Amino acid sequence: MSFVNVQGLNKSYGQTLVFRDIDFAAERGELVTLLGPSGCGKSTLLRCIAGLTPVDAGSILIEGKDIVPVAPQKRGVAMVFQSYALFPNMTVEQNVAFGLKMQKVEAGEVAKRVAEALALVELTGFEARYPRQLSGGQSQRVALARSLVTRPRVLLLDEPLSALDARIRKHLREQIRRIQQELQLTTIFVTHDQEEALTVSDRIVLMNQGQIVQSGSAEALYTAP
Ligand code: ADP
Ligand code: ADP
Repeated sequence: MSFVNVQGLNKSYGQTLVFRDIDFAAERGELVTLLGPSGCGKSTLLRCIAGLTPVDAGSILIEGKDIVPVAPQKRGVAMVFQSYALFPNMTVEQNVAFGLKMQKVEAGEVAKRVAEALALVELTGFEARYPRQLSGGQSQRVALARSLVTRPRVLLLDEPLSALDARIRKHLREQIRRIQQELQLTTIFVTHDQEEALTVSDRIVLMNQGQIVQSGSAEALYTAP
């Protein structure tokens, strides 16, 4: 049994069928990249796992337990989006602490975990800044810290680098990989960029039109037979 098991998932938006009976799995501590063209259903799969959109049928098991009936904030799943959507009127520290305060985590523990999360994304010293005082890359690192601070069992990254320019993209990609390995964090990384997928992943899952076409290591998928 894998750490994450999506089994027989069906999902439509009205008349638009996205998935019929798809299966997907991620192992504990693995970074799996979902690679496929725009519109093939990558974001929808993440949204189903995060509980941001309802599934029509099927199960999503994490550590053997079906999370479909579980409220989004209780799934132990955190998601980072392409657009970082920080709260503009809150400092970096307040942005990162927000989720923990909602969970009524005690203040000392919040401070400790916020400091840890900011250290992981190399933004110690940026606590008092506001989002408008940050670059795009820094903003996305705050968004990442905001997810890490909840200590998720599963991290979902939806095109987290797409809004950034090339140089920053490479740096952040390496940083995400380092953090993921350091924490041994089970991560599903969505991208339509083949180079990104090739450099960041333990395994690549190729998706097309709502179907999983192939899965394997970068070498296995892209080495000529
Ligand atoms: P990807 O992430 O691979 O670009 P998406 O999961 O965003 O693909 O989209 C899959 C399909 O579902 C597309 O046809 C898209 O237009 C459609 N879709 C996504 N979100 C919605 C929505 N909220 N309402 C209706 N259709 C949607
Ligand atoms: P992504 O591929 O990251 O989902 P999109 O630009 O496709 O980015 O979608 C952005 C937002 O618009 C999402 O909330 C998605 O659910 C919604 N969306 C996408 N396609 C459609 C659609 N055909 N009809 C309605 N909403 C959509």
